[in-house]
Amino acid sequence: MTPLMLTGMLLSFIGVGLILGIVFYYTFLPINDPVRIFLDTSYVGLTYLLYIIIIGAAVSGVGLLIYIRAVRTGITIPAGEYSYTRPASIIRRPAPKKEILKPSIEKTVTPLKPKGENIVEEIEKEIEQIIETVEKPVGEKAVEEKKPMIEVISKATDMVCPHCGKLNPVGSTKCEACGKQIFTPEEPSKSCPVCSAPLTLSQKISGDLYVCGICFSEIRIPPEIQKLIGIK
Ligand SMILES: [Zn+2]
Ligand SMILES: [Zn+2]
Repeated sequence: MTPLMLTGMLLSFIGVGLILGIVFYYTFLPINDPVRIFLDTSYVGLTYLLYIIIIGAAVSGVGLLIYIRAVRTGITIPAGEYSYTRPASIIRRPAPKKEILKPSIEKTVTPLKPKGENIVEEIEKEIEQIIETVEKPVGEKAVEEKKPMIEVISKATDMVCPHCGKLNPVGSTKCEACGKQIFTPEEPSKSCPVCSAPLTLSQKISGDLYVCGICFSEIRIPPEIQKLIGIK
């Protein structure tokens, strides 16, 4: 719960409290009470009571908006986790480029050692980096592009026990409620990348889109892997 979520929630509670409070207070006021007479007085077509209710509703609405906003921004931050499903292609490829930039920064930042040593070290580093950048991409690319990968579209955090329907956090092996094994593990290439349940339990939505039968994460399974698993 972030401070923004808290203020949003508080505001909406205050708004609702204001409406309920004033209506409750009003209904129990004696008919001739000056406060009741004041609340009954109309101003530009509406009574003061209605104005207070409208203000309460507005405060509560604003509070709700702030809360929803805070919740949404709270959720979008960990969205970066999704990219971990394609680590090989996304994380490795740009790396060599960064390494090329490093030596030029280090030259300016580390003049602490005697010049002679520094230069030798730098040349060695540079040679290593050149070898890395030249050799790796060629070999890696060839392997990566041939290998189809399962892509996670939406990542769930709970698994549904197929025996009793109870929710268990991803990573559990036995159900907290009924004690049974949630699923019999398969080899990783034929398993859900989120909860490791066998993909034979998944359900097709459309095209290559599937929903894991245990954690209900949405996943894209390339046709090659569909064949390998034997799902349609
Ligand atoms: Zn269970
Ligand atoms: Zn799953």
